[in-house]
Amino acid sequence: MNKLTIRDLDAAGKRVFVRVDFNVPLEDGKITDDSRIVAALPTIKSLLSQGAIVILASHLGRPDGKVQDSMRLRPVAERLSHLLKMPVSVTGDALGAGTEDAIKRLKPGECILLENLRFHAEEEKNDPGFAKALASYADVYVNDAFGTAHRAHASTEGIAHLLPAYAGLLMEKEIEFLGKLMENPERPFAAIIGGAKVSGKIQVLRNLVDKVDVLVIGGGMANTFLLAQGKQVGKSLVEPDRVEDARAIMESAAAHGTKIVLPSDVVVAKEVTRGSEYKTVPSDKVPASWNIVDIGKNSLDAMRKALEPVKTVFWNGPLGVFEIPTFSVGTREIARFLAGRAQAGATVVVGGGDSVAAVEQQGLADKMTHISTGGGASLEFLEGKELPGVAVLLDREPASAGGPAGSK
Ligand code: ADP
Ligand code: MG
Repeated sequence: MNKLTIRDLDAAGKRVFVRVDFNVPLEDGKITDDSRIVAALPTIKSLLSQGAIVILASHLGRPDGKVQDSMRLRPVAERLSHLLKMPVSVTGDALGAGTEDAIKRLKPGECILLENLRFHAEEEKNDPGFAKALASYADVYVNDAFGTAHRAHASTEGIAHLLPAYAGLLMEKEIEFLGKLMENPERPFAAIIGGAKVSGKIQVLRNLVDKVDVLVIGGGMANTFLLAQGKQVGKSLVEPDRVEDARAIMESAAAHGTKIVLPSDVVVAKEVTRGSEYKTVPSDKVPASWNIVDIGKNSLDAMRKALEPVKTVFWNGPLGVFEIPTFSVGTREIARFLAGRAQAGATVVVGGGDSVAAVEQQGLADKMTHISTGGGASLEFLEGKELPGVAVLLDREPASAGGPAGSK
C-alpha cells in the first residue's frame, strides 16, 4: 500500500487520535451487531500494547449537529470495555474542558472514547476550528474508519492536515483488497452487480466494464438492461431514463471483450410481498402486470457456469428481493457458490450493505476472502475515485512505481 500505516509508527508514549467507525445498529439502547467494533480491535489493541494513549472518536447515526440521547456512545463504550477487558469511559462531549482534562489524565496503554462527533454540526462541515480542537488532543492521527473515508469531515479529513496521519489496520486491509481488484486482479476477474438501481451504481459499472472479464448483472438493476434489449418488464422496478446508460455499458462490454451475463429467466410475482403468487418465466415473457423479483434457475446455472473458472470476484448487490424468503433463492445460491469458490482458492470480495447482510444471514461471511465494512466507501473506491479520508494520509516514500492501472 502506498500509504503509511500504524506499522510504520512508533506509538509508545504518544497520544494517538483514532477515528473509528462505531456506527453500530442500536435497538432500545442495545447493540444488535457489534462487528464494526470488533473490526477496529486489531488497531486499538496494537496501539495500546505499544504504550500509546488512545483517543477514540466516531459518529453514530444522524443526529444532525444536535445532542440526541438515543445516539450517545455509552453502549459502545460498554461493549468495547468488555471486548478489551479494560474500562473505557466515554466523555460527555467531544469538546470542552472536562474532555481535555480526562485526556490529560490518561496513562500510556489507556484509552478513552469521545462522545458522538456528529453532535457538533462542524464535524460534517469539515470545520477547520473543530478539526483543530480535535487535533489538539493528540500527537498523531490514525484513520481506521474505512466506512466514512468517502466523506471529507473534520475527523476524517480536516484533522489529517494538522497531525501526522496514518492508516489503521482495518483501513489497510480494505484498501489492499479493494485496491488489488482495481490494479492487479488475478484473472479471470468477474463482477456481480445487483441491487435496486442502475442510477446508484452506473459509475461502478462504467469503471468495471473494461476491467473485468465477466460482468454478471442481476437484481432490480438487470430490469433496465432487459428493457434496453427491447424486452418488456411488466410492473418491475425499472429506470427507463437509464436505458441509454445500460446500452452504453453493453456496447462498452462488447468493445472490450467483456462477457455480460443477464438473467435469461426470472421469477415474477403478482405483488412484491410475502405470500404473493409467483412463477418463473423466460426474461422475454414477463407478463404485463407482474414484477421481476429474482433470477430464475436457468439464469443461476448460466451465472455459475460463467463464474466457475474465475479467480477473482467482486460482488455488490442482491440478485432479487432477498428480504422476502421466497425471492431470496438467487441471492442465497450465489452466496453459497461464491463461498465455495473462495474456499477453493479464488479471491472473493463482497461489498455493499445489503449484499453483506445476505452473506451474513447465511453464516457465510467467514468463508469469503474479504467482506468490506464500508458500503458507500467501497462503491466509491470501485468507481475509481480517490477517497478523501485516504488521500490525506501520509504517502509511503519513495512512491512505488505503478503501471497502467487495471487494464486488461
Ligand atoms: P447493496 O446494499 O448490497 O449495495 P442495494 O442497496 O443496491 O444493495 O440493493 C438492495 C435492494 O435491492 C434490496 O432491498 C432488494 O430487495 C432490492 N432488489 C433486488 N432485486 C430487486 C428486484 N428485482 N426488484 C426490486 N428490488 C430488488
Ligand atoms: Mg443497500
